[in-house]
Amino acid sequence: MPSIVTISGLTKFYGTIHALDNVSFEVPQGSVFGILGPNGSGKTTLLGIITDVVKANAGSFTFLDLPFSADMRKQVGVLLETPNFYHYLSAERNLQITAAIKGRGENDIDTVLKKVNLYERKSSKFSTFSLGMKQRLAIAAALLGNPNVLILDEPTNGLDPVGIAEIRNLITLLASEGKTIIMASHLLDEVEKVCTHVAIMKKGKLLTAGHVDEVLANEDIVEVSAADLAQLETIVNTLPELKQVKRQNGNLQLFY
Ligand code: ADP
Repeated sequence: MPSIVTISGLTKFYGTIHALDNVSFEVPQGSVFGILGPNGSGKTTLLGIITDVVKANAGSFTFLDLPFSADMRKQVGVLLETPNFYHYLSAERNLQITAAIKGRGENDIDTVLKKVNLYERKSSKFSTFSLGMKQRLAIAAALLGNPNVLILDEPTNGLDPVGIAEIRNLITLLASEGKTIIMASHLLDEVEKVCTHVAIMKKGKLLTAGHVDEVLANEDIVEVSAADLAQLETIVNTLPELKQVKRQNGNLQLFY
């Protein structure tokens, strides 16, 4: 598969914080590419740079071997944080406003509402939506203009299990229709379920990248039991060699 996005040597400092340290990898066309890492590992900064909202201190990235341009921006749907929809307006009206702001036509509003399974609720006020529905409307907004690439930052964050399943199914559906999807996640489980490829980040550094099966098969797994996942996740950052914590068969696994 040819690469749709090539990232070369991206480096970013916020003052003295080294948020990204010489990160390079390629995103194959048609992949669901997970950027996996604990909070603070640089995922949002990376997505911010390739969507042109954050300026890198060094390095470059290309789309289909060309530098990013205004034309390419139209090929990319972005959801970095939940957009500011108007609570008292309907889903449809909110998308009309988003389309106008983005300079994209209104023709495909019904199409994107159907795609995210909100067409039946298009006249309902945004304020009546569940968190999962709000997130699906945000993805609908990112889909306006039918972009080839979709960039999502932690798309299931804060959702209940039903909402999480709906978003994951939606991502799988969009991928089956040929879109390349780049998504940040701090959940190994999510990346395993949804993604074809993964880049693992830790403290601004890229640890490894490639096909999910290969990357995860190559991990050196140490089983631990009788520990609390949430507690372990909070100490992941203090262990320099630890990449991820995973729950399997009632045990926790540490990935080095
Ligand atoms: P992630 O998305 O993996 O949680 P981020 O890219 O948000 O990681 O953050 C990487 C590091 O950069 C963190 O230490 C974070 O505190 C810092 N950081 C991110 N954005 C800013 C900012 N606007 N100003 C200062 N520091 C920032």
